[in-house]
Amino acid sequence: MSEQGKKTSAGLSGLIRTEPLLWEHSRPGRQAYSLPKAFGEIHEVSKSIPGHLLRIESAQLPELDEPTVIRHFTRLSTWNHGVDSGMYPLGSCTMKYNPRINERTARLEGFAALHPYVPEELSQGALRLMAELADYLAEISGFAGVTLQPAAGAQGELTGIKMIRAFHKDKGDARKKVLVPDTAHGTNPASSHLSGYKVIEIPSGPDGILEPEAVEEAVDDQVAALMVTNPNTLGLFEQNIAKIADILHAKGALLYCDGANLNSLMGIARPGDMGIDVMQFNLHKTFSTPHGGGGPGSGPVGVAEQLKPFLPSPVVVADGDKYRLDYDRPKSIGKVKAFYGNFAIMVRAYTYIRELGAAGLKRATEMAVLNANYVRAGLEDTYDLPYKARSLHEVVFSDKHLEEFGVTTLDVAKRLIDHGFHPPTVYFPLVVHGSIMIEPTETESRETLDEFIRAMKTIDQEARTNPEELHAAPQLTHIGRLDEVQAARKPVLTYRQEKDTGKGDQ
Ligand SMILES: *Cc1c(COP(=O)(O)O)cnc(C)c1O
Repeated sequence: MSEQGKKTSAGLSGLIRTEPLLWEHSRPGRQAYSLPKAFGEIHEVSKSIPGHLLRIESAQLPELDEPTVIRHFTRLSTWNHGVDSGMYPLGSCTMKYNPRINERTARLEGFAALHPYVPEELSQGALRLMAELADYLAEISGFAGVTLQPAAGAQGELTGIKMIRAFHKDKGDARKKVLVPDTAHGTNPASSHLSGYKVIEIPSGPDGILEPEAVEEAVDDQVAALMVTNPNTLGLFEQNIAKIADILHAKGALLYCDGANLNSLMGIARPGDMGIDVMQFNLHKTFSTPHGGGGPGSGPVGVAEQLKPFLPSPVVVADGDKYRLDYDRPKSIGKVKAFYGNFAIMVRAYTYIRELGAAGLKRATEMAVLNANYVRAGLEDTYDLPYKARSLHEVVFSDKHLEEFGVTTLDVAKRLIDHGFHPPTVYFPLVVHGSIMIEPTETESRETLDEFIRAMKTIDQEARTNPEELHAAPQLTHIGRLDEVQAARKPVLTYRQEKDTGKGDQ
């Protein structure tokens, strides 16, 4: 292990190296609650419940005092790597820092304590926030209408494809196929398939982008839409997008854009102006709301004018100086999420947009693209770079140059953990063998990027001189290299106290 790796990994090696399960902390009679007297009469209440509905055995929940619970979870929380503990360059996932001001507004009592069934006249502030957020997203992306309902990017895709299906059906024929390029995100074919479409994969060209000829060849009057990720999963802008839109429209097909990576276009170019008909946003990526283990997502969908009648209901509309929920939408695909979507996430994204303003959003995009290209320039002489075109928000390397030393992308990713970095996305996109997909985001400083580049170069040196050490990485974590498939092949889903060997078979 290099000295450097040791120095940068504080926080990963604490004093506590094992943590028992809550069941193991349990002692009979311990409790962390005190209830008001009225609940003392619960035994009286239970007398009025028919015997066959009462529990015979105890629920066997762990019995714990409050400090034990708090310490257990606090210790576990320090084992994790998050955007608040260090750089998290997970390509396509946009793990950018989430500004704390977003949390403050989301916790305002008027928002946080608002019941979804509060009458419209008493929830005007929340409705206004939703209407304005939808307007901002429409303005940023160039679409005519936006729904805020979907709970994630993938659900936004599904919602978008359902609207496309409803649009074609309304014209008399739902059509049968959706075209998906090989550089698309994995959720794209999944969403199309779930909506009842046959997925046709089309190959990208030698530069990693889609060529109009490939679309021309594949499109016929049974194609409902092409689903394209732009910029694609190689971090490249689909330069032929407007021409591709024309080819599809000439055949009556629509163009869906996976807009999860809008952080590379926001403030600079608008998907709606490129001929795109439907696109989902990932508020939890581009608009800085927590995701991964950190919170629920939100995947609003923007649509062109002709698709507005099919938006999920209800839609928030302005009526003079008042706001209301419009359910009277006969062509709507219906509801896709309970109530109106993940409202607290909308408050955070709204705050982010208002905080940055138009100039700030554009600056965020410029910095995200600059940072990705900085990493690329810092590493292109060391790591294999399969596609040479200039990157947008992320850059994809491969492990081809390490093959002769028996070192793989997985080894590099695991060693990065010892250097204090979360690994990048690996083995995706599939069009690159052993891909290492790095998305630094705009919230990392030049110093952090330099440290990351240094770590990657140190790992490359180690691969050449000491590959065995790399195979054993990570070495500074609580748990070393895991068998990646055991949990799937031999899952242990219950904890059995009687079998406990002290080694933990959980
Ligand atoms: C993250 C991502 C998705 C999926 O979004 P979820 O919110 O995780 O469902 C889809 N497409 C692309 C390109 C993405 O980066």
